[in-house]
Amino acid sequence: MSGRAGETPDRTPGLTLVSHAGKPYRFDPGTLCLELTTTGGPGAFARWEVLHEPSDLVAWAGRSRLPDGLDLTVSAEELEQARALRDAVFLLAADRAHGRSLQTAPLDVVNAAAAGPPLVARIAPDGTRAWAPGATGSRLLATVARDAIDLFTGPFADRVRECGAHDCHLLFVDTSRPGRRRWCAMEHCGNRAKVRTHRARHTSTES
Ligand SMILES: [Zn+2]
Repeated sequence: MSGRAGETPDRTPGLTLVSHAGKPYRFDPGTLCLELTTTGGPGAFARWEVLHEPSDLVAWAGRSRLPDGLDLTVSAEELEQARALRDAVFLLAADRAHGRSLQTAPLDVVNAAAAGPPLVARIAPDGTRAWAPGATGSRLLATVARDAIDLFTGPFADRVRECGAHDCHLLFVDTSRPGRRRWCAMEHCGNRAKVRTHRARHTSTES
């Protein structure tokens, strides 16, 4: 979905990604666990890996739809677990998107991560939201894994989709009322498709 005028950019859910041509665009996968799938993925998607160091996971959490102010400590082991959870969510979401049955191995990874204690929110005396101290990578992953369980078992489980562009592979959940979202972002793959359709139409009328 492209951003609407008047939205505050910093609190609009979603991540800023950069196209092959170097143009930034806004991608809202619709839920926290799918935001993690933009950091790389299993198999051939490993070349897009951005979680190289614990600080990369901290940076992702800061860019994610989680409320601000998280003071996160991440170990090397937790970083490795984050990549494993990310790959598991990626596989499950792709299976969901293509109507395949869910595989046991990635389900085990998600369930194991979800079993741990999650991040804890607090309310401050002035009524503002804050995070409890002691936020760790494991707690972050438990929160992400629980979000994945909510997604894959919830009302939008059959609205998990892969972007309609053949070369994109970004995964999102379509939470729109009409449920007709096809693209990762209208301003990115949506426009590329429009240009292609336009060109194809012109070519066929010319020939
Ligand atoms: Zn796309």
